[in-house]
Amino acid sequence: MMYSKLIPIILLTLWLGISSCNNKNSPVNNPHPISLSWCNQPLREQFNSLKKVKVKSSWFKVFEVGHGVYAIAEPSNFQEVISYLILGEEKALLFDSGMGLSSIKKVVKQLTNLPLTVINSHTHYDHIGGNHEFDNILAIDLPYTIGRAKNGMSHDFVKHEVTKEAICLEKSPNKDTANYHIKPFKIKGFIKEGYIFQLGNRTLEIISVPGHTPDAIALYDKASGYLWTGDTFYEGPIWLFDPETNLFDYQQSIQKIANISGQLSKVFPAHNTPIADPKRLKDLNQAFHQIMIGEKKAENSTESKHVIDAALLFKFEGFSFYIRKNLLTDFVATNRS
Ligand SMILES: [Zn+2]
Repeated sequence: MMYSKLIPIILLTLWLGISSCNNKNSPVNNPHPISLSWCNQPLREQFNSLKKVKVKSSWFKVFEVGHGVYAIAEPSNFQEVISYLILGEEKALLFDSGMGLSSIKKVVKQLTNLPLTVINSHTHYDHIGGNHEFDNILAIDLPYTIGRAKNGMSHDFVKHEVTKEAICLEKSPNKDTANYHIKPFKIKGFIKEGYIFQLGNRTLEIISVPGHTPDAIALYDKASGYLWTGDTFYEGPIWLFDPETNLFDYQQSIQKIANISGQLSKVFPAHNTPIADPKRLKDLNQAFHQIMIGEKKAENSTESKHVIDAALLFKFEGFSFYIRKNLLTDFVATNRS
């Protein structure tokens, strides 16, 4: 879809050096027609097979994607970000809070009255935009995360998200695009690898998966075989690009989640489509290994041509990687030495 229109957005984010996670809507793996704007974009096909949950919101679309699991999607912005509400019998957990363009709290309130904890898959701006609405936020104890909570992100860093090429403003309740920014939020307590949430007849475990960012986590419901992967994996171009990205850490993290893929029934990523086949995690691990040993060559794409000095595109079935060139050079050199 937004292939040609996305180029200025991508360039802008590169200049700023703060591209969020991704830019999931490059033409790679993107089924959307180029000619459509975000206002008449059909939902990605997978959503048609999911149970839609009615909520009062012009912005969010909610789908039941597993037992007590709701995907809260924002399909009218190019990030196509997805947050998840996970219910136990006594408590609920919100995994990510979206772009902050509309109140996610109002949507959550329509879905549950249970006491709520918020955690983030990582603190890129497209996953923490609604954090300021909540007072029970647990986070990773890292300077990166604490800084993000303290400062939020200014309009300059996120203004490319609200251009008419990036969003359908008619569907956004927030028309004040000149003031769009990510508000700071308060961290109530800290979590780390192995931390367990007891929600009442549902247990969720934190798996630390640094790489995309230092504070990236996955969330594991062992009994159901559910794994929430954040931006460590989704079915689109995965950005391994930002200054905070670490390819060595990423490699270890995807190995870790590939190791448990055999025990999984569903994978819930943070962009594009909410349900992925757990087998993809093995593919992801193998794909990255192929890049690392120099077996996989970067593709030419019109999009990458515009960022060729900085990023390389590696395409695989169902997903791809955009990797910052100098990160990859260091990575391959170290692995060969
Ligand atoms: Zn991200």
